[in-house]
Amino acid sequence: MTVYLVGAGPGDPGLLTARALELIGHAEVIVHDRLIPASALAGARADAELIYAGKEGGGPSMAQSEIDRLLIDHGRAGRSVVRLKGGDPFVFGRGGEEAEALRDAGVAFEVVPGVTAGVAGPAYAGIPVTHRDAASAVAFITGHEDPAKLESALDWEALARFPGTLVIYMGVRRLGAIAERLIAGGRDPFEPAALVERGTLPEQRVATGTLGTIAAEGAAAGIRAPALAVFGAVAGLRERLQWFERRPLAGLRVAVTRARMQASGLSARLRGLGASVIEAPAIRIVSLDGPAPEIGRYDLVCVSSPNGVRLLFERLGAAGLDARALAGARVAAIGPGTATALRERGVIADVVPERFLAEGLVDALADLPIRRALIARAAEARDVLPDALRGRGAEVDVLALYETVAEPLGDAELAALDRADYLTFTSSSTVRFFMAAVGDRLPAGARIASIGPVTSAALREHGLEADVEATRHDIDGLVAALVQAATR
Ligand code: SAH
Repeated sequence: MTVYLVGAGPGDPGLLTARALELIGHAEVIVHDRLIPASALAGARADAELIYAGKEGGGPSMAQSEIDRLLIDHGRAGRSVVRLKGGDPFVFGRGGEEAEALRDAGVAFEVVPGVTAGVAGPAYAGIPVTHRDAASAVAFITGHEDPAKLESALDWEALARFPGTLVIYMGVRRLGAIAERLIAGGRDPFEPAALVERGTLPEQRVATGTLGTIAAEGAAAGIRAPALAVFGAVAGLRERLQWFERRPLAGLRVAVTRARMQASGLSARLRGLGASVIEAPAIRIVSLDGPAPEIGRYDLVCVSSPNGVRLLFERLGAAGLDARALAGARVAAIGPGTATALRERGVIADVVPERFLAEGLVDALADLPIRRALIARAAEARDVLPDALRGRGAEVDVLALYETVAEPLGDAELAALDRADYLTFTSSSTVRFFMAAVGDRLPAGARIASIGPVTSAALREHGLEADVEATRHDIDGLVAALVQAATR
């Protein structure tokens, strides 16, 4: 079997390579460091053995020989092994040493490069490490060594003369000494300089100055590891090319309270706009067992959420049926997310209301002759739609496909919520469950964003007023409302 030496990128999970994700998904054993994206292991197999080999803030780490031993033993045992490292495994990652150890032991290995922090951190700070007018070369340097040491492996005088950008890894603590050494070697003290802390992550911070001032600027800003220093004319380009901090939700911590299974779409949208997302699901979706409905009996089938679509098709599938079962009925979706879920299964909804609420669907169905309707939805949903259709003389069956149950919030989630700038609510049931889960620990400083009037009313019942209410009652609308509020 093969041991894969895999780079996990600098922190932004979007910078994990496709190959890295594929291998993480197959691995039986994953030996990982601390500086890997928090979600990097989310796709690992449930039965994968995860071994932490990093060190915690200068504390003891697993000895390199022990890590080598682990990789060799698991490799020899015929297991598929991923050795997952921050950034690129061969850039200050000891990947070279591990490859040598594997080679010496006769264990096959492959290397999967990663996006190295020395390129990505500056890029997210608006600093291109090379530029036709400003730098035709770039040097990656470890600042781990004490530059005052005479036997230093680095020739700081030569580095001072290096005709291009200097990127220093692991050097925050020795920054002052490094800058002095470079200036003593003849480097221009007025050369632009930048420090990038936690580059590519939502918490990214950048300090700027010159080679002569950057150590003091970094100390004043409280920049700490993991951070990189960039010295060179390119650092001055940040002023014009800065982009990361300009995204509409940059710097905001936004809590997502929907069920974990539904959260990913909203979370991804928020992250994409620069928010730091706190996932605090107080609710969980449990599917209910039951037979497939006799769809042929109905001239209207209403589906009230993407989950409803998924579970309806699961029931149909279990009975050997597919989308054709819906051929004789009109299909109504409560909103565009539900319509998309239907389309993915080959069904184009006949009716999607303009307002994505049960009331909107009632209006949209007003002119349709309906004799028998099936409403596929959550067990405890409001009865607006069935009542209205019955009121028009239709025979209505409600098919409860799932129910939502409470999911307790842990201490870590509650602590994270205390720092939230916004709490988002996407249904009245999330409001109810969330309020029960936080009890008297409701985050006081956070503003509240609601997907629409029904959710806002549920908030009001708990004594809360939505600061932001979406005008379009779906995820896109909620995100748009947040962006509008944040950029106002
Ligand atoms: N193999 C890694 C580097 C490991 S050395 C890579 O290719 O990126 C660890 C050092 O990398 C840290 O001390 C810091 O200088 C730098 N580093 C790693 N992640 C970083 C990040 N997100 N932002 C800034 N610097 C980072």
